[in-house]
Amino acid sequence: MKIKVNTWTVPAYWSWDVENEDVCGICQVAYDACCPTCTVPGDGCPLIWGECSHVFHMHCLIKWLNAPNSQEQCPMDRTPWKTAAAHS
Ligand SMILES: [Zn+2]
Ligand SMILES: [Zn+2]
Ligand SMILES: [Zn+2]
Repeated sequence: MKIKVNTWTVPAYWSWDVENEDVCGICQVAYDACCPTCTVPGDGCPLIWGECSHVFHMHCLIKWLNAPNSQEQCPMDRTPWKTAAAHS
């Protein structure tokens, strides 16, 4: 079977990459939804930014950092986790 590709000029936001930028890297749930331990999105389930620029649900990250194998590293890039200054 031959697949003809006419162009690779796809929009920058279009991607087959499984690492979807819009989902929490820990629970794979969208940032604008709440983490699996919460039922109501919004202020009750805040996001947390790391200095490595990764974003997670705060609850997911706290759970992750409390896990013995996390070694207090970012779960995405395994650099020591540092919470970035709050975004306004
Ligand atoms: Zn999450
Ligand atoms: Zn939550
Ligand atoms: Zn990171």
